[in-house]
Amino acid sequence: MDNCIFCKIIKKELPVDIVFENEHVIAFLDIAPINKGHTLVVPKTHHSSISTPSDEELFHIMKVGSQIGRALMKGCDYDGFNLHLSNGNCAGQVVDHAHLHVVPRIGTDGFHWNWRSQKYEEGEKEDYIKKMKSKLKLNES
Ligand code: 5GP
Ligand code: ZN
Repeated sequence: MDNCIFCKIIKKELPVDIVFENEHVIAFLDIAPINKGHTLVVPKTHHSSISTPSDEELFHIMKVGSQIGRALMKGCDYDGFNLHLSNGNCAGQVVDHAHLHVVPRIGTDGFHWNWRSQKYEEGEKEDYIKKMKSKLKLNES
């Protein structure tokens, strides 16, 4: 996509600090890290949503993300990491090219997710599961 910032990074038309690259994905340092080493794992094909990459691309996004998290722990003295992905502007997605954040964490980093906890009404859980199942497209193994 011509006006996509991550497609430009993939084509090396913009400066980039590459951590890892293969034929499916590129992983590079986020320009504004939550913690140092914060990395983005990006499919090389333009996908606005994480719903559309192929199974192979999805495998590489998650595999590379988890391995980079491990490398941040072993090589950069972090205690853990968050894998974070925003799908859709309402979910906080700013760059319209799907990407997985690998955010390295240490207990003293002072960063907190703004998590909340809602409650289901009677019968609501079953209703949600029914509606979700009616649209799930997964091959059973
Ligand atoms: P989102 O909010 O879409 O999940 O995350 C987009 C991420 O891309 C942000 O964390 C932002 O700092 C990062 N970002 C935006 N533009 C650039 C860029 O030009 N280079 C790099 N390395 N990261 C970028
Ligand atoms: Zn793109």
